[in-house]
Order: sequence, then C-alpha cells, then structure tokens
Amino acid sequence: MARLAAPGRPLRIGLVAPPALAVPPIGYGGVEAVIHALAQALEAEGVAVEVASAGRVEGSFRAPVGLELSADEAHAADLIHVARSYAALASMDVIHDHTKAAGAALASFSRVPVLTTVHNDVNPVRLALYRASRGHPFVFLSRAQHARYPGVAASGIVPNGIDLRQSPFRSRKEGYLLFLGRFSRVKGPHEAIAIARAAGMPLVLAGTVDPADRAFFAEEIAPHLDGSSIRLAGEVGGNAKWDLISKARALIAPILWEEPFGLVFIEAMACGTPVLAYRGGAAPEIVVSGKTGFLARDRAGLVAACSRLPEISATACRRHVSDHFSARTMARAYRVLYERLRLGEVTPASGRSQVSPPMAAEAAAMALRSGRLEGGDS
Ligand code: UDP
Repeated sequence: MARLAAPGRPLRIGLVAPPALAVPPIGYGGVEAVIHALAQALEAEGVAVEVASAGRVEGSFRAPVGLELSADEAHAADLIHVARSYAALASMDVIHDHTKAAGAALASFSRVPVLTTVHNDVNPVRLALYRASRGHPFVFLSRAQHARYPGVAASGIVPNGIDLRQSPFRSRKEGYLLFLGRFSRVKGPHEAIAIARAAGMPLVLAGTVDPADRAFFAEEIAPHLDGSSIRLAGEVGGNAKWDLISKARALIAPILWEEPFGLVFIEAMACGTPVLAYRGGAAPEIVVSGKTGFLARDRAGLVAACSRLPEISATACRRHVSDHFSARTMARAYRVLYERLRLGEVTPASGRSQVSPPMAAEAAAMALRSGRLEGGDS
C-alpha cells in the first residue's frame, strides 16, 4: 500500500545487515562495508537511516538495540536476526534487506515494504526461495549476477559503491602485486602465486581463511610463502589495508567463479591501482580492460598484462570509480527505488533490469529533477 510522506519529513530507511559482522567491518566484510557507505551517503542526501545489525554499528545513524544473538540462537541466526530487525524498523518507510535469504522469506510478515539486495552468488536454496517470492523486489549488483538467477526478476541493477574519501589515491607505486580477499579456490590466490612467479613480480597476499578453506590454504598456499617474493600479510583492515592497496603495482584477482561484484576491484581502482583479473562474473562490467587494468582468460594472458601495466593511468582508474561506483551514485539509485516502493510503484521487471549501472545515477537525478518523486529533502 502506498505510504505518503508527511510534507517536509525525510524519507526513513532501515538497512538490515547480515547478523555476523560489525558495520563497518574491522577487517574482511564486503556487504558490511557497502551498507556503511550506503548509510553515510543516504544521510548526506537528507535520508533518515537506521542500521539493524547483531554486531557493533559505527556512525551517526541510529541502530536499534537488543539485536545481539545468543549462542543458542546460532542455528537460526539469520531468521531470528531478520525477524527482530523488521520489528525494530517498523516505523521506517522502507526496509532495505542485505541478508542472504531470510530477509526475502520473511518480507511478507513486515508491515513496511522490503527491498532486497542480493549480494551473493546463486545456490539451489536461494534460487528456489527467491523464485517462490514472486512480487518481492530484488536488486542485483551486476548483470552477470542477475543472469545466474533465472526466473527471478530484477527491480534494478545497482552496482556497489564506496566512499572515495576513505580510499587514498596514489600514482607512485611500489613493485608488488596484491591479492586481497578470502583464501578460497574460487578467488584464485594459487593462480596469483603462479602468475606473480612467471611475471617475476613480488606478491603480497592478504585476507582470511574460512574454516572450509583450511585444507586448500595448507596445501596450495602455505608451501609457497617465503616471506619476501611471496609474502603473507594476513587479514588487514583500516589504514594498513588502504596502504597496501594504494602502494600496490596492481591488484591481482584471478577469479575462478562468477564473481557477483568484487568490491576489491573498485577499492583498488579508487586508489589508482590497476586491476588484473580473469574475465569472469561481473569483472567486465567493472574493469575496463586496457584502461583501468587488464582482463584475460588465462594465466599467460595475465602474465603478459603485467608488462603492460605502465599503459594504465592511475588517474583514469580513480575517475572510473568516481564516475560509476561512488557511494553517492549507489545511494541515489537506491533512493529512486525507495521512493517508488513507498508509493507502491515498484514491481519486479519482467526479467530485465530497469536500472543499468551507467544509467543509475542519471536515472536517479532525472527522476528527482522532474519532481516525479515526492518526499525527501531535494
Ligand atoms: N577485506 C579486508 N581485509 C582482508 C580481506 C578482505 O578488509 O584481509 C575486504 C575487502 O577489502 C573487501 C571485502 O573484504 O572490501 C571483500 O569483498 P569482495 O566483494 O571483494 O569479496 P567477497 O565478498 O566475495 O568475499
């Protein structure tokens, strides 16, 4: 049902984070980093934001209390967290859900309209659940990700954005390649080692090892670590992470899966650091091969690309992120969807996305300018 904003009252948005990590995360945590950037950018646009998380929330926005999970709730953490969050955010105009599956499953129990951003790759349970949630508005991060969810309509494709003030720009680089992410086979850290060796460049590996990846790490990563040419930095966060990214000659991401987005790509480019990646998933929608890095299909292709890094301009990398992947661009695209959802206008598109990445900011600005949207402060 359409909800009309009281004149002059700002739009109120409740963001539901996954239950595990803090917002923003201390180290690893892509979804939580995006939620924090979105919350800040929405506030800057005059939107009133509340962030529901079972972890710590940092920032000027309100965070409903009492959402911590106890150890005996761990088996159903997502469901319990979402149910509590929806109750805590019942006075919002729109709830924006960023959890894996529980958010969409419980949306019909919410009195407030719910929008779900799908952050993960497909799996059979998620696909079945989303297909069964007909009429629920889903947003995807890339066209490639959406294509992995056949039968699930997209209300929009909104690429992740980052706060560029956090990412230090640096044009003078040191000589090492950087791998940053989960030490999981699909992220290709073992490929990164082979490529760095073949290219004769030092490699720094930073990231986390999930319990499921411990054997992979022990067998295929640990034996190659020598403390100098192949060096492990462990999990990094804060200034140490930005330092590592901004000084790297390039980020190396030889992904072996259909990466739904790849936040590290835009983090690197924002620092003026080119991206070397395999051409999978969303990579071609984010990295402009030959301009902000190089995309290749195999090891030989990325080894060859290492010698072409001087062709890439650090400034062009940063500009690409500020033009297409800023938190502000992301917040404006979402705001259009929130306003339409509040007015009862959002229905899932019939299989095609309504907002494409380069168009998102423009569509938002046009809609706001034309006065078709009410509420908010613009
Ligand atoms: N990250 C971090 N410290 C680490 C490893 C990763 O802060 O040691 C961050 C990284 O900078 C990015 C996020 O975790 O913001 C990972 O998001 P991405 O989309 O790249 O990967 P995924 O969500 O698939 O793990």
